[in-house]
Amino acid sequence: MRTELVSEPGDRTRPNEDFASVALPASGQGGALVVLDGVTPPAGGTGCLHSVPWFTARLGGALTELTVSLPDVPLTEALSLALSRTSESHAHTCDLSHPRTPQATVVVARWSARTLEYLVLSDSALLLESGDGTVTAVLDDRLSRLPRSSLASAALVDSTLRNKEDGFFTAAADPSVARRAVTGSLPRSSVRALTALTDGATRWVEKFHEGDWTDCFAFVRKEGAGALVARVRELEAADAEGRVFLGRSKTHDDATVVYAEL
Ligand SMILES: [Zn+2]
Repeated sequence: MRTELVSEPGDRTRPNEDFASVALPASGQGGALVVLDGVTPPAGGTGCLHSVPWFTARLGGALTELTVSLPDVPLTEALSLALSRTSESHAHTCDLSHPRTPQATVVVARWSARTLEYLVLSDSALLLESGDGTVTAVLDDRLSRLPRSSLASAALVDSTLRNKEDGFFTAAADPSVARRAVTGSLPRSSVRALTALTDGATRWVEKFHEGDWTDCFAFVRKEGAGALVARVRELEAADAEGRVFLGRSKTHDDATVVYAEL
């Protein structure tokens, strides 16, 4: 087992709103990773006294704990329980029905000696590499199917489309959103390595077209997770005026990459 985790804020004067963890239980052959990308609220109220990093730390911490402590509970249920726990921690002080209540994209992967399970909600990505080197991208593509998708990212889309039918779904206060996630299970033997990325890092593929998902996976394994984020920052700096890549609304975004070789 080898893992690497890199998370860089988009702006060093602002807190990183991504969350990432890797859990490797001491017994057995299991493990898990969790990656969240907190949605930056637009100016104006959120109904919540807390910050986005407060929310992602609560949700990510609960999700990590429940994913490994309840190995027989499906990931959708673990996410639902983690959302309930997070909501309970501030329901008495905050209006959780507010459309801009803190929310996040979610990637979870959990492996045992026999299986690898995954869950993806909104626009973070999970890449799975098989033994023969084939890379499969697990994506929740609801967001990219929205009108004006070239201008869309989960962090920026109008809140009127968020968590609505015909819109897209992020993990906010309602535990039932977990059933909207893209989920699956594979034999552990069919996965050699995996990489989870927030959309600040998937820009390497999706905005700057440096390569496809297979190229991205190879880059992370060979050059390292930090090198991928550094390359994205270079590309962003070279295009700081955003003339070429009009789809990018923030020059830099929080970028997280977690790599695990099973
Ligand atoms: Zn709150």
